[in-house]
Amino acid sequence: MNYDRILIRYGEISTKGRNRNKFVDKLRRSVRIALAPFPKIKIRAERDRMYVLVNGENVPEIINALKNIFGIQSISPAIKVERDIEHMKMAALSLVKELYKEGQTFKISPKRSDKTFELDTEGINHTLGGNILANIPGIKVNVKKPDINVKIEVLSDAIYISCENILGAGGLPVGSSGKAMLMLSGGIDSPVAGYLTMKRGVEIEAVHFFSPPFTSERSKEKVIDLAKKLAEIFGSMKLHIVPFTDIQQTIKEKIPENYSMTSTRRFMLQITDEIRKKQEGLAIITGDNLGQVASQTLESMYAINEVTNTPILRPLLTMDKNDIIKIAKDIDTYDISIRPFEDCCTIFVPSSPKTKPKREKVQRYESFFDFDSLIQAAVKETETLVIKPDTKVVSEFNDLF
Ligand code: ATP
Ligand code: MG
Repeated sequence: MNYDRILIRYGEISTKGRNRNKFVDKLRRSVRIALAPFPKIKIRAERDRMYVLVNGENVPEIINALKNIFGIQSISPAIKVERDIEHMKMAALSLVKELYKEGQTFKISPKRSDKTFELDTEGINHTLGGNILANIPGIKVNVKKPDINVKIEVLSDAIYISCENILGAGGLPVGSSGKAMLMLSGGIDSPVAGYLTMKRGVEIEAVHFFSPPFTSERSKEKVIDLAKKLAEIFGSMKLHIVPFTDIQQTIKEKIPENYSMTSTRRFMLQITDEIRKKQEGLAIITGDNLGQVASQTLESMYAINEVTNTPILRPLLTMDKNDIIKIAKDIDTYDISIRPFEDCCTIFVPSSPKTKPKREKVQRYESFFDFDSLIQAAVKETETLVIKPDTKVVSEFNDLF
């Protein structure tokens, strides 16, 4: 049996009332991006579901691409048949015949959105169930835990039949919850923080602090590769690369060593916030994880966070490292993150950074030098790259509609 369409059920977006159109639009955009390698498909977005019309493209491959899209609750390959009892019987039978393995059980699950159809749900059950029992020797009915669940949906235009229900990624479509700036280092944590925030519908732009010649081009490439991975989710992503050498060297000269980490973080945050304003983002995301290193104690966060009142999202704050690593592996960023290239912070890291820095002290140390003009210069010299994923055929987007 050739499936001719793939049914996409929306996740939480169905509950979002007035915002529904926006959610459906964003989801449609994500689907269009993910399915760019399948130029013949067509997408039909409706209020409460979406269909991908297969048009001869490879169904399992399309399903694989759909599985990673945020905002999709479940996916079912389906066939559309005329509103006619004989057509429905034949299609259901051949679908079950194809999936059936010896000893398996089945069940018919009819749903009649259009009540004018000549059979009621009971009638559909009997007609289709009887036909399957009569034609597939050995098959049995099991209404509680069937191996094959034949879903029949009777709508006013046609009948849809599907037997498989594949779990989607859940979450909300990217772009439906506004935009935030991700502070992206080359480490394990920040890409995971970005991924989890995107899963809640937030579009991200990344900001990376780069200190040549102390950090090499290879470490910049590493960050670009991480950005490429995240860009797969939304089709493209901006990466702002901030030249940070002058500031780090000045910190080293002007700030007592045990406060240099605190100041570094404060300036990073200030610069990210300036870029955020320009780009009209609403929040900043970091990969901070409570207690992991000196800059991630509550006292440190209290001292660092002072420089802005922009919301800072820290999706990993309370997670265990093992769980973070698991996600990093799942989303394919782990192997990139563990490439052994230095980060701007590790190079300048003091031997014993304060784990309990004081706001008053760091303010005083910073007040002896005009860091503001360095910050403005770094923002001005920031280079912005538009990162596209490696594997997508971006140029074909426009042909899809
Ligand atoms: P990560 O694995 O994300 O590097 P980490 O455990 O190494 O995190 P830190 O190095 O203390 O922790 O960094 C904490 C957070 O600060 C990072 O998750 C990231 O959001 C931000 N950050 C650190 N270094 C940079 C950098 N060079 N550019 C941009 N953001 C950075
Ligand atoms: Mg790091």
